[in-house]
Amino acid sequence: MSALAQQHNAINLSQGFPDFDGPEYLKQRLAYHVSQGANQYAPMTGTAALREAIAAKTELIYGYTPDATSDITITAGATEALYIAITALVGPGDEVVAFDPSYDCYAPAVQLAGGVMKRIQLQPPEFKVDWATFADNLSDRTKLVVINTPHNPSATAWSHDDLEQLWLRIADRPIFVLSDEVYEHICFAKEGHASVLRHSQLRQRAIAVSSFGKTFHMTGWRVGYCVAPAAISVELRKVHQYLTFSITTPVQLALADMLREQPQHWQNLSAFYQAKRDRLTQGLAKSRLKVLPGAGTYFLLVDYSEVSDLNDVAFCHWLTEHVGVAAIPMSVFCAASFPHKLIRLCFAKQEATLDAAAERLCQL
Ligand code: PMP
Ligand code: GLN
Repeated sequence: MSALAQQHNAINLSQGFPDFDGPEYLKQRLAYHVSQGANQYAPMTGTAALREAIAAKTELIYGYTPDATSDITITAGATEALYIAITALVGPGDEVVAFDPSYDCYAPAVQLAGGVMKRIQLQPPEFKVDWATFADNLSDRTKLVVINTPHNPSATAWSHDDLEQLWLRIADRPIFVLSDEVYEHICFAKEGHASVLRHSQLRQRAIAVSSFGKTFHMTGWRVGYCVAPAAISVELRKVHQYLTFSITTPVQLALADMLREQPQHWQNLSAFYQAKRDRLTQGLAKSRLKVLPGAGTYFLLVDYSEVSDLNDVAFCHWLTEHVGVAAIPMSVFCAASFPHKLIRLCFAKQEATLDAAAERLCQL
């Protein structure tokens, strides 16, 4: 969709990335570490400075201190963290349960590992899990459950009770949880982000994944990490060692400085994005599009059923070509048919971009 947006000179609210730059301080720290010669291989698991900064942040937010040496692994974006976790844990014939709509990189990794995806379709507008259905989808072959909160693409967020419900269903089964929490700092829910790291039992079975791309507006820097108990980390590091081996040294050092010295950046991120969410929502108030409430991420779902009978894929093409706004159709995140007229808009954009897009969408 980004390529199509470019081709038609459309405002690109499709692929999720900011159209503004990350913090000046972060860029300066990167230049500094490059100039100081921090340009050789980092340790396989990540630089100590970054792992320690992550451990401190985790303690501050979730009241749990992972061991910086054995529990934290720095990866090439969250994408690599998700891949190494799946590759390490899933073998041929193992079943992996995920909830649709689901982010696109889980299923291919499971397939490559020879595993079998069991995708449970959730329904708009709330995308709530029916826990009886979930339990019905577990079997003796279930190895892993993949969860994602705040959720891309539905923009919903789980509560702590949802995590508890999950725990109750898997407690006496040998099942791991892969928790995609890349939007942990972009959560508008009153009770805050429900992290598996806050759940004293779940975290013993879980791999929590995060991404500096989302948190520091630098999706192109490609640095993420995962937090998992030592026994799990040992396994996923075996994959990481021979996949990427280690991640760009000066970038890691700059990120460690940023985490340590500028905590207000991630502490204020939810408010920063909530203002953007509200601006786009208000901009669309007079349109014939219906905005679904967003509890987190930098995406909003929009129902276009009053505007067009086209299916979501055809509508997104039409919207890009004829209205000049690019969006992502929701059905691409689902294995089963998803007949709803819903598209995803990314609001990680400057106010002028959001206003211009809303103006075009109000003409529909
Ligand atoms: N998981 C989700 C839910 C995402 O939205 C993204 C990025 N769009 C990723 C993982 C991948 O993150 P990264 O860019 O750090 O690889
Ligand atoms: N995760 C981003 C999204 O959902 C995009 C990342 C990608 O294009 N792989 O739009």
